[in-house]
Amino acid sequence: MVSESLVDVAVVSHWIDGAERPSTSGRTAPVYNPATGAVQAEVALADQAEIDEAIASAERGFREWSQYSIAKRQSVLFAFRELLNARKPELARLVTSEHGKVVSDAMGEILRGQEVVELATGFPHLIKGAYSENASTGVDVYSLKQPLGVVGVISPFNFPVMVPLWFVPIALAAGNAVVLKPSEKDPSAALWIAKLWKEAGLPDGAFTVLQGDKLAVDGLLTSPVVQSISFVGSTPIAQYIYETASKHGKRVQALGGAKNHMLVLPDADLDLVADSAVNAGYGAAGERCMAISVVLAVEPVADDLVAKISERIAKLRIGNGAGTDGAEPDMGPLITDVHRDKVSSYVDIAEADGAKIVVDGRGFTVDGHEDGFFFGPTLIDGMPTTSRAYTEEIFGPVLSIVRVSSYEEGLDLINSGEFGNGTAIFTNDGGAARRFQNEVQVGMIGINVPIPVPVAYHSFGGWKKSLFGDAKAYGVHGFDFFTREKAVTSRWLDPATHGGINLGFPQN
Ligand code: NAD
Repeated sequence: MVSESLVDVAVVSHWIDGAERPSTSGRTAPVYNPATGAVQAEVALADQAEIDEAIASAERGFREWSQYSIAKRQSVLFAFRELLNARKPELARLVTSEHGKVVSDAMGEILRGQEVVELATGFPHLIKGAYSENASTGVDVYSLKQPLGVVGVISPFNFPVMVPLWFVPIALAAGNAVVLKPSEKDPSAALWIAKLWKEAGLPDGAFTVLQGDKLAVDGLLTSPVVQSISFVGSTPIAQYIYETASKHGKRVQALGGAKNHMLVLPDADLDLVADSAVNAGYGAAGERCMAISVVLAVEPVADDLVAKISERIAKLRIGNGAGTDGAEPDMGPLITDVHRDKVSSYVDIAEADGAKIVVDGRGFTVDGHEDGFFFGPTLIDGMPTTSRAYTEEIFGPVLSIVRVSSYEEGLDLINSGEFGNGTAIFTNDGGAARRFQNEVQVGMIGINVPIPVPVAYHSFGGWKKSLFGDAKAYGVHGFDFFTREKAVTSRWLDPATHGGINLGFPQN
């Protein structure tokens, strides 16, 4: 929703040239506190003049930052890491106020982002070139890894800190200047991070925050200055980003949506499985791209599993993620009322298609927060695999059980889906787990681990419609994505090895 004019609340601005840059576009969007439903701020939505200004500043920032020595770049990264580590409780509260997730979960996403900052501090080792002496007589060949220039990062609402930090520290370490376009639903964390980079010693223009909507995104996709796009969000937009940015000659990594299945074999410990399914299904109110949304129960375990998950749901505490009503709850609200209604409509679809709604979160309210965007944890049994509630991403606290008769039937269901982000198998049979990791068509696999987000030195990314492009986020993929290589073939002029006149193709 775009507001017609600025209203009487704070306006979250851009960060350009190392300072907050109030918008003059006259366009804003509301930023809610999802726990109360109140509009607590507006966010600026850039117009073309602001987009151009942000990119021009980044171009200047790149010229300066890319010439910093490796040692100086490294000292900025270390300083940023120290500042982030010291002040992350403040950032976690900010995330909760705009996203709604509970504070400890916001802290968790910051820690996972910090992991990438820590990886990036070791960048000199990861962007070293290679040297081959005497490739031919008197000829040496070596490679250099250089930054791309100005790079664009476009992030989703669900991880306003972690997702930007999947890319930004690595891009900066490699000497690029970054323009970040955060989600307009929770835009303040990006500004907070911008201030921290400045305090850490990053020169002005090397990190820019461009607040906005499709206009700002399209400005980055089509700008001839922007060299690459790193996108995370829903699949239709990821596909659009991939196609548009590629058409404009850019390097692109575009991570999309998900529908993650947990395959439970009959030998698994069902109490541990139920704990894991509840954690991975309802954590962050299901608004995680690695959330488990379908449990494939290989019979005869489904009845027991439904009972155990239901018992656990009954004990979950749902409330204001800020913990203002006493102890921190287990689960907060959804991001907007529009999204809550969409989640609710998927439960309607499942019901109409013949599924059994075992625990129904529709119409759920929290006392004292009647206008908050809450949706209760929902458990659906007997989900038909033809239902749109099965095939599409719901992105809410809705866990569906599909009963299957064998490992093979479960595997076929996973492999026939359009997404391939994450999956998990629960079993004590090592042979079955090994077979699963070989046969499943998914990018990230958990073996008795329900949310298998790889650590920073491995890379994050799915298959199929969960990732467009061939570069995953962070790890070695990240350093490859944000650098380009030059190969130099060199010889010192020396009559003995020069070879005289020879019009043939160079040979060794
Ligand atoms: P979204 O696709 O609506 O928005 C993502 C970004 O794209 C935002 O910055 C938004 O402003 C921009 N955008 C939205 N519509 C656009 C349009 N028409 N043209 C150009 N830009 C547009 O996603 P979201 O709702 O913010 O985030 C949730 C989605 O992100 C879920 O589908 C989730 O699975 C996915 N996600 C995926 C991963 C992953 O690693 N694969 C991680 C986190 C989230």
